[in-house]
Amino acid sequence: MKMAAQKTPSSNPLNPVLYGLLAHKFGEVKIANEGVPAQVERIEDPFRPGKSMYRGSNWGEYYCVCCPFCRDQRNRLWVNHQYGSDLRNGRRTSTHLAVCYNENCLDKPGRLEQLEDMIFGAGRRFQLRTPIRAVPAEVSHVTVEPPGDILPLDSLPDYHPAVEYLAARGFSDVHELATTFRIGVCVNPRLDKYRLMHGRIYIPVYFNGQLIGWQGRIVGESKTAPKYYNGLRKSQALYNYDVAARQPAVVVVEGVPSVWRLGVAGVCIFGKTLSAWQCNTIATTWANKPVFVVLDHDAQSELEQVVTQLCARNVNVVPVILPDARDPADYSRPELFSMLSDAADAVGVTADLSFLL
Ligand SMILES: [Zn+2]
Repeated sequence: MKMAAQKTPSSNPLNPVLYGLLAHKFGEVKIANEGVPAQVERIEDPFRPGKSMYRGSNWGEYYCVCCPFCRDQRNRLWVNHQYGSDLRNGRRTSTHLAVCYNENCLDKPGRLEQLEDMIFGAGRRFQLRTPIRAVPAEVSHVTVEPPGDILPLDSLPDYHPAVEYLAARGFSDVHELATTFRIGVCVNPRLDKYRLMHGRIYIPVYFNGQLIGWQGRIVGESKTAPKYYNGLRKSQALYNYDVAARQPAVVVVEGVPSVWRLGVAGVCIFGKTLSAWQCNTIATTWANKPVFVVLDHDAQSELEQVVTQLCARNVNVVPVILPDARDPADYSRPELFSMLSDAADAVGVTADLSFLL
């Protein structure tokens, strides 16, 4: 294994889901051999005739975190980017691809399994109904730039049309919108193709600290202009992921305003269907935590589909059926809180949602 200087990542990790899980569980993650994919060959195992084994000539990118088993404070636990991503018969393999350079902690019995439970959630190794699909290789997020200059929402006067429009829709906590969701107004689009963004509400979409896309919502309603302007690959994004990943539960909704209504625990899938990437990311990020699904009132059959997809991945799903024709964004936060609590009770999932209020 080649040691290389660790650094804080400047671009996209090769395995963003693993990187995100490590950042979520261990805090700061440094990267070694950044951007270098593993080069591994299959050879005959000299100790087990007839069996094969993998030999790495270069194991490539590593994520370096502080080892939880010793008093390491220098990111000496190295986790390979292929760690746990290989699946056979519903079991994770490649979970030996981690090493503590401080005290060799993972050599002690049971430690590899303990680490795997810490990263992917306890009890998930043997209970898989269907194999976990590795993150599709073609998914690599590209960091993007905002479409123009962004005026933070909390820097604008109360009478600014965007602030007035949001307040009229019941989103009057300008501070939360500006800090939790980093909402602003776009001016001076930097490219001609973004000219529609001028004056729109700017909705940035982050994944593991990187801007991977954005939407622009028109202020008010228009018969001619589109309601949302997209600079985003919707199927490879979860709105508010970074904030929600740190919460004890997540609430999956269709659109951005519903996330604003819910607060820190909301993520949106930008529509009524769950992509493979979104499903995989939810299943690994909120393993063993309650995952609520609240789609708009007109989407009950899509709700069933999303719930089925998540159940197949052993997610603790709580489907929430709305009582009337209103969408999640039309309720107040306390009303949503009580609907979520009731839905969790109905399916016997324990969820303390007091952090939402
Ligand atoms: Zn250690």
